[in-house]
Amino acid sequence: MFLPTTRQEMNNLGWEQPDIILVTGDSYIDSPFIGVAVIGKMLIHAGYRVAIIAQPDIHSDKDICRLGEPRLFWGVSGGSIDSMIANYTSLKKRRRSDDYTPGGINNRRPDRAVIVYTNLIKRYFKSAKPIVLGGIEASLRRIAHYDFWDNKIRASILFDAKADYLLYGMAETAAVQLAEALQNNSDVRDIRGLCYIAGEHDEPEKRAGYLELPPYETAAGDSRAFIDMFHTFYHNNDPLTAKGLYQKHGNRYLMHNPPAMPLTQHEIDAVYALDFERAQHPWYERLGKVRALETIKFSIPTHRGCYGECNFCAITVHEGRTVQWRSAKSIVAEAKKLTAYPDFKGNILDLSGPTANMYGFECEQKMQRGHCPGKRCLYPKVCPSLKPDHHHQLELLRKLRRITGVKKVFIASGIRHDLLLSDRHNCEHYLREVVEHHVSGQMKIAPEHTEEGVLRTMGKPGTASLLQFKRLFDRMSTEAKKKQYLTYYLIAAHPGCTDADMKKMKQFTSRKLNINPRQIQVFLPAPSTYSALMYYTGLDPFTKEPLFVEKDMRGKERQKDIIIK
Ligand code: SF4
Repeated sequence: MFLPTTRQEMNNLGWEQPDIILVTGDSYIDSPFIGVAVIGKMLIHAGYRVAIIAQPDIHSDKDICRLGEPRLFWGVSGGSIDSMIANYTSLKKRRRSDDYTPGGINNRRPDRAVIVYTNLIKRYFKSAKPIVLGGIEASLRRIAHYDFWDNKIRASILFDAKADYLLYGMAETAAVQLAEALQNNSDVRDIRGLCYIAGEHDEPEKRAGYLELPPYETAAGDSRAFIDMFHTFYHNNDPLTAKGLYQKHGNRYLMHNPPAMPLTQHEIDAVYALDFERAQHPWYERLGKVRALETIKFSIPTHRGCYGECNFCAITVHEGRTVQWRSAKSIVAEAKKLTAYPDFKGNILDLSGPTANMYGFECEQKMQRGHCPGKRCLYPKVCPSLKPDHHHQLELLRKLRRITGVKKVFIASGIRHDLLLSDRHNCEHYLREVVEHHVSGQMKIAPEHTEEGVLRTMGKPGTASLLQFKRLFDRMSTEAKKKQYLTYYLIAAHPGCTDADMKKMKQFTSRKLNINPRQIQVFLPAPSTYSALMYYTGLDPFTKEPLFVEKDMRGKERQKDIIIK
C-alpha cells in the first residue's frame, strides 16, 4: 500500500486525521531504498496512521495544508540527498536535473529543504505539533558543521530550522519510539538517536556521562577547537561505546543522545519484508516519472553501514561503521517478489549496500565491545581482526541465480578491492563468479586517487592493491572469454591534492591502468566529514599540520581538466 497523499485517499482508508505527516524533498517513491518510505511503513506497521506530502509548494498552503494537522508530529526530511548537494555541483553551479523529481527537472527541491519545510509548516499551523527532522540532510547537520555553500560553520540545523526534535541515522526504531512516547505523553529525552534543545536552566551536565563539545560560537571562530569538536563527535558514533554529547549554542544546548543500537538480523529482515509498492505514487507520477526508479525498482538492498571510513564520505556519520546485513532468506524472498512484476525483465540491477562486498561479515570484537578508538578497520591496511569472508555473498548470489525468472544479478555498487584481496580463501572464487555472472560489461571500483599523499588524506589504500586487483580481474575476464573492463571513481581537488598530483595521476591511469578517463568528480565537502574539516581549516585534522587545499574554482577545474583533456 502507498501512504496516503490526499484527503480522498485518507477517506478511503477511513482516516479522519493522520497521526503523523511526513514531508519530503523527493517525489514520493515507495521503495525500500527511500528512507522516508521506510520510516512511514515502519510507523504504519506499529499501528500509526501516516500520510505523506512530497515536494510541497513552498509559496502557498495548497500542499502543506491539504491533509490538515497530524495528531502526533510532523516528520520533515530534505529527501534522499542533502538539498544543497542535490541542487549544486561541487563548482557551485546549479544542477539542472534531479533524479528524485518528476520529469527529472530540478525545480521542486528548495535549498536547505529541511529549514524551508519547517518554516512552511510553522507559517500555516500556528499551534503546530512537534516538528521532527530526519533524513540525511538533518543527520549530517545535527551538530555545528562546515557548510561549503555558505563557506562557514553553521549551527546545528535543529536551531536553524527551529524544529523540536531531530532523529539521526537510520531512524526506524527511534521514529516508532518517538511516536509511542508522544502518544503516551511520556518523556522522549532518553530515545537513542534523538537530538533536542535544552534551555539554559535545564543543566545538561545532569545527563549522566554526557560529554560537552566546544560551544558552537567557539568552534565557528577557532579551527583547532572545531577539529577537537569533530574528533569527539566522530568517536562517539558507535552505538556500543558512544557517550551522549551536548553543545552550547548561544544560551541553549543541543543535546545529542547516543546512536540507536544496530538492528538484529531479524529486525532488519522485518523492515525489508514491509509492503513496498516499488513505484512512484500515482498522484506524483502524473507530474512526470522519476529517474531514480529506473535503477532502484529492481535492485535489492542487502546491508547498511560501512567501515571503509573514507574521509570524504558521509556514510560513517549517517549509517554508522557497523555493517548490518539481511539474511539470505529475506533477500531471496524479495527477489522472488520482483519476478512477479509484469515489467521485470529478469535482471536484478544492483545487489547493493554502501560497499557491495561488505555483506555477511563483521569484526567480532566490534560487535561485542564497539569500534576500536583511534583505529580504522581498513586503513592503512585491512585489520586482521576483521576476518573478511566473502563466501556468504557468494552463496547468496548462487541462490539468487537459481530463482526461476531471474536471468541476471548485477553488482553495480562499488567493490572495495583491498578488502576482497585480503580474503585469501574466497577472493579468487568470488571474483571469478562476479566476472562470469554479475558484471554488465564494466565493473566499478573506487581508488579515488593514485598518489600516496592524497590517498593518505582520503584514508584510502595505496595503488599496489589496485594493480593486483586489475591483474586478477583482467585475467579472469580473459579466461571467461568476456570483453569487460574496470571503471574507476576518481576525485580531483581533494584536500592535499595539487596540480602535480593530478599530472602524476594522469600518467598512472594511462601507463598502469591503460585508460584515458573521461569522467572525474571534483571534490565536494559534504557536511560532517573529515575531508570537509580539512577543506575548511586547511589543516590535517590528525596532525594539525597545514595542508594544501585548492579552494579556487578555476584551480579545481584545472585539476579536473588535467585528467580529462
Ligand atoms: S579490531 Fe580491527 S576490524 Fe575490529 S573494530 Fe578494531 S580496527 Fe576494526
